[in-house]
Amino acid sequence: MTTPAYPEDSRIELLSCPYNKSHQIQRNRMQTHLIKCRKSYPEISKVACPFNVTHLIKEPELSYHVSICADRASFEKFKIQDDLDRTDETRVITYELTSDQNWDSVCVEKTYNPRKYMDSANLIRHAPAGAKPSERKEFRAAEFKRHKQ
Ligand SMILES: [Zn+2]
Ligand SMILES: [Zn+2]
Repeated sequence: MTTPAYPEDSRIELLSCPYNKSHQIQRNRMQTHLIKCRKSYPEISKVACPFNVTHLIKEPELSYHVSICADRASFEKFKIQDDLDRTDETRVITYELTSDQNWDSVCVEKTYNPRKYMDSANLIRHAPAGAKPSERKEFRAAEFKRHKQ
Protein backbone atom coordinates (compact mmCIF):
# COMPACT_ATOMS: atom_id res chain seq x y z
CA MET A 1 0.00 0.00 0.00
CA THR A 2 1.43 3.32 -0.98
CA THR A 3 0.36 6.45 0.81
CA PRO A 4 1.07 9.54 -1.21
CA ALA A 5 1.18 12.58 1.05
CA TYR A 6 -1.95 14.46 0.13
CA PRO A 7 -2.10 17.30 2.62
CA GLU A 8 -5.90 16.94 2.95
CA ASP A 9 -5.51 13.35 4.06
CA SER A 10 -2.81 13.69 6.66
CA ARG A 11 -2.85 15.59 9.89
CA ILE A 12 0.87 16.22 9.62
CA GLU A 13 1.21 18.00 6.35
CA LEU A 14 4.01 16.61 4.26
CA LEU A 15 5.48 18.53 1.39
CA SER A 16 7.71 17.21 -1.35
CA CYS A 17 11.16 18.68 -1.29
CA PRO A 18 11.48 20.87 -4.41
CA TYR A 19 14.91 19.39 -5.09
CA ASN A 20 14.00 15.75 -4.67
CA LYS A 21 10.41 14.49 -4.71
CA SER A 22 11.41 11.47 -2.67
CA HIS A 23 12.11 13.76 0.28
CA GLN A 24 8.79 14.09 2.10
CA ILE A 25 9.18 16.83 4.67
CA GLN A 26 6.81 18.15 7.33
CA ARG A 27 5.80 21.69 6.52
CA ASN A 28 7.33 23.11 9.70
CA ARG A 29 10.63 21.36 9.01
CA MET A 30 10.86 22.31 5.36
CA GLN A 31 12.88 25.46 5.88
CA THR A 32 15.55 23.59 7.84
CA HIS A 33 15.55 20.82 5.29
CA LEU A 34 15.99 23.23 2.40
CA ILE A 35 19.03 24.84 4.02
CA LYS A 36 20.73 21.45 3.98
CA CYS A 37 19.28 20.12 0.76
CA ARG A 38 20.04 23.15 -1.42
CA LYS A 39 23.75 22.67 -0.72
CA SER A 40 23.63 19.62 -2.95
CA TYR A 41 22.48 21.77 -5.86
CA PRO A 42 24.97 24.66 -6.05
CA GLU A 43 24.45 24.94 -9.83
CA ILE A 44 20.81 25.99 -9.59
CA SER A 45 20.45 29.74 -10.10
CA LYS A 46 18.52 32.09 -7.86
CA VAL A 47 15.52 34.21 -8.73
CA ALA A 48 13.97 37.19 -6.93
CA CYS A 49 10.91 36.74 -4.78
CA PRO A 50 7.85 38.45 -6.37
CA PHE A 51 7.05 40.14 -3.03
CA ASN A 52 10.54 41.39 -2.23
CA VAL A 53 13.38 41.58 -4.76
CA THR A 54 15.93 41.35 -1.97
CA HIS A 55 14.82 37.75 -1.34
CA LEU A 56 16.94 35.65 -3.69
CA ILE A 57 15.58 32.16 -3.86
CA LYS A 58 16.76 29.13 -5.76
CA GLU A 59 14.15 28.56 -8.39
CA PRO A 60 12.80 25.20 -7.21
CA GLU A 61 12.19 26.73 -3.77
CA LEU A 62 10.31 29.74 -5.04
CA SER A 63 6.79 28.39 -4.68
CA TYR A 64 7.55 27.26 -1.14
CA HIS A 65 9.16 30.59 -0.32
CA VAL A 66 6.18 32.49 -1.67
CA SER A 67 3.93 30.48 0.64
CA ILE A 68 5.92 31.58 3.71
CA CYS A 69 7.32 34.95 2.59
CA ALA A 70 6.98 37.62 5.29
CA ASP A 71 6.36 40.26 2.66
CA ARG A 72 3.49 38.29 1.26
CA ALA A 73 2.13 38.08 4.79
CA SER A 74 2.15 41.87 5.05
CA PHE A 75 0.22 42.03 1.77
CA GLU A 76 -2.35 39.55 3.01
CA LYS A 77 -2.62 41.04 6.48
CA PHE A 78 -5.15 43.53 5.18
CA LYS A 79 -7.39 40.77 4.00
CA ILE A 80 -7.11 38.92 7.29
CA GLN A 81 -7.91 42.07 9.26
CA ASP A 82 -11.02 42.52 7.19
CA ASP A 83 -12.03 38.92 7.65
CA LEU A 84 -11.44 38.70 11.36
CA ASP A 85 -12.04 42.32 12.29
CA ARG A 86 -10.33 41.75 15.59
CA THR A 87 -7.36 44.10 15.99
CA ASP A 88 -7.77 47.00 18.41
CA GLU A 89 -7.07 49.48 15.67
CA THR A 90 -9.78 48.05 13.48
CA ARG A 91 -12.18 47.93 16.38
CA VAL A 92 -11.72 51.63 17.13
CA ILE A 93 -12.41 52.54 13.54
CA THR A 94 -15.36 50.21 13.40
CA TYR A 95 -16.76 51.84 16.51
CA GLU A 96 -16.32 55.36 15.16
CA LEU A 97 -18.02 54.48 11.95
CA THR A 98 -20.88 52.61 13.48
CA SER A 99 -21.44 54.40 16.79
CA ASP A 100 -24.72 55.84 15.55
CA GLN A 101 -25.87 52.52 14.19
CA ASN A 102 -27.37 49.46 15.72
CA TRP A 103 -24.61 46.83 16.11
CA ASP A 104 -26.98 44.21 14.74
CA SER A 105 -27.31 46.05 11.47
CA VAL A 106 -23.67 47.00 11.01
CA CYS A 107 -22.92 47.15 7.36
CA VAL A 108 -19.68 45.24 6.87
CA GLU A 109 -18.83 47.19 3.73
CA LYS A 110 -19.08 50.48 5.57
CA THR A 111 -17.04 49.36 8.57
CA TYR A 112 -13.93 48.36 6.76
CA ASN A 113 -13.85 50.01 3.39
CA PRO A 114 -12.32 53.37 4.42
CA ARG A 115 -9.59 51.57 6.35
CA LYS A 116 -8.93 49.20 3.51
CA TYR A 117 -8.81 52.04 1.05
CA MET A 118 -6.24 53.89 3.15
CA ASP A 119 -4.11 50.81 3.57
CA SER A 120 -4.00 50.01 -0.10
CA ALA A 121 -3.31 53.64 -0.98
CA ASN A 122 -0.41 53.68 1.48
CA LEU A 123 1.02 50.40 0.37
CA ILE A 124 4.43 50.80 -1.21
CA ARG A 125 4.87 48.32 -4.01
CA HIS A 126 8.18 46.68 -4.62
CA ALA A 127 10.15 47.33 -7.76
CA PRO A 128 9.73 44.63 -10.41
CA ALA A 129 12.00 41.62 -10.10
CA GLY A 130 15.28 42.07 -11.92
CA ALA A 131 15.23 45.87 -11.77
CA LYS A 132 18.63 47.57 -11.68
CA PRO A 133 19.43 49.56 -8.52
CA SER A 134 18.84 52.85 -10.33
CA GLU A 135 15.51 51.63 -11.68
CA ARG A 136 14.56 50.41 -8.25
CA LYS A 137 15.33 53.81 -6.79
CA GLU A 138 13.20 55.50 -9.44
CA PHE A 139 10.39 53.06 -8.84
CA ARG A 140 10.46 53.72 -5.11
CA ALA A 141 10.51 57.47 -5.66
CA ALA A 142 7.47 57.17 -7.91
CA GLU A 143 5.75 54.99 -5.31
CA PHE A 144 6.40 57.50 -2.54
CA LYS A 145 5.04 60.25 -4.73
CA ARG A 146 1.91 58.23 -5.45
CA HIS A 147 1.65 57.50 -1.75
CA LYS A 148 1.76 61.20 -0.84
CA GLN A 149 -0.90 62.26 -3.33
ZN1 LIG B 1 15.43 17.61 -0.11
ZN1 LIG C 1 9.99 36.71 -0.26
